[in-house]
Parts: sequence; C-alpha cells; structure tokens
Amino acid sequence: MRGRQCLKSLYLHKYHPDLRDEITPAQEAIFQTGHTVGRYAQNLFPGGVEIPYEGLSITQQLRQTAYAIQAGGRTLYEAAFQFNGVFVKVDILHRGEQGWELYEVKASGELKPEHVDDVAIQCYVVAGAGLPLTKASLVYINKEYVRRGDIDVAELFVVEDLTGTVSEIQDLIPDRINQMREMLRGEMPSIDIGPQCSDPYDCDFRGQCWKDIPEESIFSIRGRLPNRFELYREGIVQLQDIPRDILSASQLIQVEGTLEKKNVINREGLREFLSTLWFPLCFLDFETTYMMPIPLFDETRPYQQVPFQYSLHLSERENGELLHYEFLADPGTDPRRDLLESLLERIPDNACILCYNMAFEKGRLSDCKTWFPEHAEKIDTFIENIQDLMVPFRKKDVYQWQMNGSYSIKNVLPALIPEMSYEGMAINSGDMASSAWFAMAEMNDPEEREKKRRALLEYCKLDTLAMVKILEKLRTL
Ligand code: SF4
Repeated sequence: MRGRQCLKSLYLHKYHPDLRDEITPAQEAIFQTGHTVGRYAQNLFPGGVEIPYEGLSITQQLRQTAYAIQAGGRTLYEAAFQFNGVFVKVDILHRGEQGWELYEVKASGELKPEHVDDVAIQCYVVAGAGLPLTKASLVYINKEYVRRGDIDVAELFVVEDLTGTVSEIQDLIPDRINQMREMLRGEMPSIDIGPQCSDPYDCDFRGQCWKDIPEESIFSIRGRLPNRFELYREGIVQLQDIPRDILSASQLIQVEGTLEKKNVINREGLREFLSTLWFPLCFLDFETTYMMPIPLFDETRPYQQVPFQYSLHLSERENGELLHYEFLADPGTDPRRDLLESLLERIPDNACILCYNMAFEKGRLSDCKTWFPEHAEKIDTFIENIQDLMVPFRKKDVYQWQMNGSYSIKNVLPALIPEMSYEGMAINSGDMASSAWFAMAEMNDPEEREKKRRALLEYCKLDTLAMVKILEKLRTL
C-alpha cells in the first residue's frame, strides 16, 4: 500500500526507516482509534480466534493461522498469510455458508479507492496462499448511526461487498508487486515531491523529501492555487517568482505582505464589523472531544464532537470589569448537561457572544439543542447572538504580514500582540486538549491529574483572553 502511493516511500521505508518523521500525538491518536474500531468490528463475528502480532514472529503467526483454520475455527482476527513475498494480516476472516469471507475494517466514514486496493492485495495473498475466498468486504463507519445504550455494531458499521470489484483487479497485482520488487533491487528511485506526498495519506518521509523547500514558497500560499506542482516543476518555488496574475486578491495580499513586510487595514470594513458588536459582550470558546468514529455518549453520532470544557470572558459594559468563567467536566463522565447548564447560567440574556470561527461554536450549541430540547429557546437566542471575530481577518480587512496568509487565531494573536502566543504551552491545540481530557480519566496520580487540569484550563482561557486582546487591538486600529 505504501508502494502504491509512492515507490520512493517504500524504498525509504525498507532501507532508511530512520529518516521517517516523528509520529505526532495526532497521528498516534489516529492509530489508537483504528485499533478501537477494529476491536468493535470483531463483534460483528464474535468468539473468533486472535492471531497476535506483538511477540510472535511472522512464521509463528502463519503457523498459528494455519492451525486455527485446520482446527475448524470459524472466525479469525488478524489472520496472517504470505504469498509471493507479501505478508498480510486480515482484520476478520470468517467461514460463511458458502466458504471463507474476508473483512477489512477501516475507521473511515466512506469507501475510498485506496480501500479497494487494500482489500484486493489481501485477497491476492490469501487466495495465493491456498485459502479460496468466496467474499471480500470493507467494513466502515455508518456516519448516520446514533448511539442509544450499548454500541450496536450491526448499525455502527456498513459492510460493503467488494468481491466483484477486487476480483476485476486481481490480474494487475502480480505486475505491481514485481515492479516494486524490481525497484527495491536498484537505487533509490528519483521521484520528486508531488501530489502523492499527501494523497491518499500524509507521507511520513516529508521531512526528508521536502527539506529544501523554503518555509515561504509556492506551497505556503493559502487557499486554492491550481497547478502548484506544475509551477514547481517549472522552477517556480520562491514567492518572488510566482506570476501575480494567477493569485487571488487574498493570496496577493499574502505574497506581497511577506515580500514587502506590508500590512493591510481596511478601516471601513473594520468599523463595519465593530458596529455589529454590543454589550454585554461575551467571549466564548469550547474544547471538544476529537472526531471519534465510535460515539461516546447516548444520542451522539460517529465523528460528532462533544464539548467538555468552555472558557468565557464577559464584559457587562464598555470599559467595565472583565469577568472570567470556566467549566471543565470531570474526565470519564458525560459532560454535556453540566456544561450546558453552567453556560446557561453564565451568559446574560441578549448578550453578544463573540467566538473565533463561529461555525464551530454554533454547531456545538445546535447539538446541545438536540440533546436538551427543553433549553432550545435560550440556545437559539445564543446562536442568533453569536458574532465571529475571525471575519475581519478572513476578509483581510486587517492583515499583518506575520500572519503568513492565515486567519487562524494561532497566527493572528502573535502577529497583532507579540507578547502573547500559544508557544511553549503544555497544551496548545484542540487535539492536545482532547487527548489530555481522555488521558486524565486514566490517571491515578492526583498530582499529574491536577497538572493536566491546570494546563487545560490555561489553554482554553488563553483562547478567550486572546479574543479580548485582539478586539482591544482592533478598536485601536
Ligand atoms: S515525501 Fe513524497 S516523494 Fe518523498 S517519499 Fe513521501 S510521497 Fe514520495
């Protein structure tokens, strides 16, 4: 599968694994999620025999698989097969009425082309190793599933029969394998960076292959820019070489801003934005669980983000005292009711609620409305009263060249207020906050737990304090 994406990646993986980029916490969380989903999917065919990966050599895994099949096992998890020098682990192998069936499990909400190839190579190896298959399917997440009580695996998963599709491409596989084997016998293929570096997956050798691309380049321009790689191949890498006529107005501001250290202020647009705000003025930010395929709580769907923390700064009147409220749910509990009730208590009626990227907070409040319809009226008022502090930055009414074309608060804050930034914080992203909340639930050491709790409160508080300071700055502009 790696070689399918890029032959050079397969070569580096085989001969220079030390050049691989470090795994980020976000990637680690993705792997963990994949494991969890795999475990749940096993319940589609309960009572199977597991062929472990850890602690067993490949030969031992192959032997255990053969033994389990010979012993009359009906279901195997992680069954191991090898053929033509390719080793595969099959998520679920089940002996159905017609014969053996293969199930590949993905923590994805849809079927993607790469999944078909993944199933196809497994079928090739399993059949080649001497076990005829009657069916091959992909098991993935049903995004419409709503949890009610225990997870209903039959509802949570979609099982899509790919038997016909994968059999059509079986004949292509030996050639592909030979091509890869041939490549591995030679020198490292000279493959330049290209769309394959992030399609279908982010390649973990980017640090190696992209090391000569400057930080500011054709690739750092935000937004859609067709044919980036074509321009790159023509030698256009540096910002100064990019033809201006292919850039959008916003991209032009980024490029010229960076090259000439030029800022933009459209006072008219800014004034218009500021006139949409009123007092009492709240600054609100949620932290939520990350997009988990297995819904955690009743009435939630796969990938739905559940708020577990908020920070709220509140100013009753112009130049009035700045109050701060916060909420952080006990880890391991359902945070929704307590969080909402706390919020309903804190936000004054008819307050203007300022968020950064309001679609997110609006979405979470809308979810709360579904979960707690008794509060629908008040939540609707909150949603109507939300304004978005991101607007002047997204519209480039205010742009500082240090923002590098971004209007994320992480870039806007240090550009406008250099003494404030997210650098050096123990938690400095939404993903980290979510991981920390889950990690807290597993911690036994009260001191460690308290440290995490404080880091979470500090991070979320900075999000709303940043908004307060950014607004103050905008008013001076
Ligand atoms: S970074 Fe790109 S070119 Fe380099 S190995 Fe990965 S996919 Fe291939």
